[in-house]
Amino acid sequence: MKRYCFKTAFGEVIYYPSRVWSSTIAIKGEKYILIDPQYYLLKDTARPDEIWLTHTHPDHLLSINKFEGVPVYAHPEGLEILLSPFPDRASTKREIASAINVVENFKSLKGFRKTVLKRIVKLVIRMHLLPFTNIKGVRGVKQVYKMDDGEERYGIRVFYIPGHTPDSLCFYVKEGGICITGDLIMGGSGPANLYTPVSDPYKALQSLYLLQSLKPKIILPGHGYPIYEAKERLKIGIERTKREMECIVKNFDPAHPFFTICRIQRCLYPGRKMISRLSALGYYTRYMLFDKA
Ligand SMILES: [Zn+2]
Repeated sequence: MKRYCFKTAFGEVIYYPSRVWSSTIAIKGEKYILIDPQYYLLKDTARPDEIWLTHTHPDHLLSINKFEGVPVYAHPEGLEILLSPFPDRASTKREIASAINVVENFKSLKGFRKTVLKRIVKLVIRMHLLPFTNIKGVRGVKQVYKMDDGEERYGIRVFYIPGHTPDSLCFYVKEGGICITGDLIMGGSGPANLYTPVSDPYKALQSLYLLQSLKPKIILPGHGYPIYEAKERLKIGIERTKREMECIVKNFDPAHPFFTICRIQRCLYPGRKMISRLSALGYYTRYMLFDKA
């Protein structure tokens, strides 16, 4: 497994890439910190001093039980999930609850038949949970601590960057201009943001602006490979998110919710099949039904 080492005045930052599950990042400075640990990626099995999480999606928690007694730090919004007996299931449940909540709201709108509604709920759940269904056996951790916006820990700055999830954090190693973003930024040529039912486009946009203001040199994303053209990628991410929101506003027609969704999906993902376009349904319906109300 290829790994990427960044030597800074602060210490060493090592990126272990994974396209299937989340990538893992090790920071070796004053303390040894593991971010989003995936045990199987690590050749070096030294015990970390602390585990930090960019957010509580199941693919970012895979190995939190491997280091018994090591304290886990996460945003306050994610603590309940980590303390529950099975954090992977709790995180998935949060997605399902959010998807159902969104689709339930269609009941109050004209033009929706119950059969269509049921089909959409099933589809949304299947699309969003597919990546998580193979994750099993993560157990709750007792030593969980809060980490929040504006904190600095061992010289690493912490920023709250909601949008992908309500509990997303960014870790910034200023000495090397290295920004660890979790899934707000995706590696590879994928979208700037990854949408799931708990995602929020307004917050994602604000968080992208915040990252831009930091002027990072390198972005270490939640999946994929290091991004060396950080400025360019953030610009693309912001433009894309704005374009998507414009597309939603332009196509929004409360009298015809179902056709609204179809039109929006077609506008956002013109080359894709309907099933793949529907994957962002939860995200956009929340925008239409709640935020615009
Ligand atoms: Zn995620």
